[in-house]
Amino acid sequence: MIVYDLLCENAHRFEGWFTSPEAFSHQHQAGQLACPMCGSSTVQKQPSAPYVQTGGGDQSQAVMANPELMETMRKKFVEFVLQNTEDVGERFTEEARAIHYKEAPQRAIRGQATMQDTKELQEEGIDVFALPVPVLPKDKLH
Ligand SMILES: [Zn+2]
Repeated sequence: MIVYDLLCENAHRFEGWFTSPEAFSHQHQAGQLACPMCGSSTVQKQPSAPYVQTGGGDQSQAVMANPELMETMRKKFVEFVLQNTEDVGERFTEEARAIHYKEAPQRAIRGQATMQDTKELQEEGIDVFALPVPVLPKDKLH
């Protein structure tokens, strides 16, 4: 089995288990992968996963991530989000609602929201989550 970290177009992160990399490619190309949170089939594989298990034969291996690796991955995840979402800044709450109620084009956005705003959005059934770290300015990414 191989475990991939997947990310949908709405920035939901989830795990997918596949029998082989080919099985993943096949299901991916056939549009059979869907986000468990929003059902979107626009799903991308994250560049790395915390652990990989390759089963079968004498070539099995397992990796347990150490804190440094986890930290690197967390940063990569944040970078990925930053590079794949539109920054709507302080209009986040407004835009998130507009997208949810289909008053604005469906897309992944990020921006500022208070904990209270985030909670209210979640209560309305809107999939938002707080990034684990403060959002870095774009010019620090590279
Ligand atoms: Zn999703």
